[in-house]
Amino acid sequence: KKRLLQELKGKENITKDGTKINLYANIGGVSDVANVLANDAGGIGLFRSEFLYLESEDYPTEEAQFAAYKTVAENMAGKKVIIRTLDIGADKQVGYFDLEKEENPAMGYRAIRICLDRTEIFKTQLRAIYRASYYGTIAIMFPMIISVNEVKKIKEIIAEVKAGLDADGIPYKDVELGIMIETPAAVMISDLLAKEVDFFSIGTNDLTQYTLAIDRQNPKLDNIYDSHHEAVLRMLKMVVDNGHKEGCWVGICGELGADETLTETFLRMGFDELSVSPSMILRIRDKIRNTDLSVK
Ligand code: PEP
Ligand code: MG
Repeated sequence: KKRLLQELKGKENITKDGTKINLYANIGGVSDVANVLANDAGGIGLFRSEFLYLESEDYPTEEAQFAAYKTVAENMAGKKVIIRTLDIGADKQVGYFDLEKEENPAMGYRAIRICLDRTEIFKTQLRAIYRASYYGTIAIMFPMIISVNEVKKIKEIIAEVKAGLDADGIPYKDVELGIMIETPAAVMISDLLAKEVDFFSIGTNDLTQYTLAIDRQNPKLDNIYDSHHEAVLRMLKMVVDNGHKEGCWVGICGELGADETLTETFLRMGFDELSVSPSMILRIRDKIRNTDLSVK
């Protein structure tokens, strides 16, 4: 089986009836890129940039971040690299952020909420990402979005960052901007959000947590954490349809994307991309190539 999977390298992610989908990989740092390439992923669908912050003793500098993003972009040699901006707080605590202890951190001060509050941290990261964009094909996505207003604020900050780079004569490319759909609020207003961005990537880990009101970290609830819950599946379909109406491409970067029992369902829903751990790429490719959407 393992040898057969190796033979799928270089092959397309295409069903028997000719439906194609992009298969990208999730990574946590620069050192994961070798594994992404070894498994022939089409790109990086989720670069969890918070690991740069978690590994660091203090706020990572613009230079340190630029170096990391540039290395990943260069090593991917033109393939898309979607960098998710800082998603700290909740389950990912970093000492030097001095975050207050919260009753309910999953619903607390985290991710984009911190970035839109402590905008200097956010601007440093965005500046590093835009500088790196010149060296490959970078896209940016934002976690934990709940409103159109957040996206508008993000765009204002990006405009400031770009103006700063222009003033300094530093080159950058235009990058695709996307958001993670990982709150029920974002699902329900995905028609409006779609007008503001280029793509959606569904974070099914958090989306399931918030939809079912089940803490994803609480092992006591594992038996009722139903990742195939009809409520979640309906949301996925709604997001694809709302995204496509406005010309957004739509993917999944949560763990559910690698669930082979749902690959056919995702293809039928019309997903454009699945981003999974590097070790799952060839298995999902195999699944896709053995699927025929023209039957039943
Ligand atoms: C998710 O919530 O599904 C996701 C991909 O992000 P993270 O697991 O990093 O919260
Ligand atoms: Mg998440």
